[in-house]
Amino acid sequence: MARYIEASCRLCRRENLKLFLKGDRCYTDKCAFERRSYAPGQHGQRRGGKVSDYGIQLREKQKVKRIYGIFENQFRRYYHKAERQKGITGTNLLILLERRLDNTVYRMGFASSRDQARQLVRHNHFAVNGSKVNIPSYQVKNGDVIEVKGKSQKIPVIQEAMETVVRREIPPWLEVDIEKFRGVVKAFPSREELTMPVNEQLIVELYSK
Ligand code: SF4
Repeated sequence: MARYIEASCRLCRRENLKLFLKGDRCYTDKCAFERRSYAPGQHGQRRGGKVSDYGIQLREKQKVKRIYGIFENQFRRYYHKAERQKGITGTNLLILLERRLDNTVYRMGFASSRDQARQLVRHNHFAVNGSKVNIPSYQVKNGDVIEVKGKSQKIPVIQEAMETVVRREIPPWLEVDIEKFRGVVKAFPSREELTMPVNEQLIVELYSK
């Protein structure tokens, strides 16, 4: 799967929000957004003025795509799937994104960023219900057990991520047994449990045009 290659910290500055794309660094004073919380580029500090409705909707979509590290075509597929599901399309969209295996691994604290989680999943370091799964977009289901595979438990990046997971909370829809390198999906997340500052209705309005 293609990935954003623009420097991660520039993305945060462009969205005017900490997107937590660089793992532990995001929680330190080395965070670029803490030091320069204005848009990148020569005119970054001068930006402002009136933004059209379309511009606001577009920025919201870009923000969510960047949080989860996915590109337009795949994002649009998630949107259409969310639209076909019962319930509120915007909420469905966020839940579909949250249920990606790479995101779940990150949320469980086995990786320090979604980008790192994606690489670890691709490199076969995880099993779901005892079977190898190396597809980052795999949708986890209620009751799924996600484990770091035996030899992979010694990998320093996984151990470091687990040591520093206390910096962020494990969400209530997941249960993690750190000692056993294992987590369970207790339920699908509810909208209230997705605490990112995202207005998904703006994305629905954008795609409904
Ligand atoms: Fe964003 Fe700060 Fe993390 Fe860079 S270090 S990705 S600016 S949150």
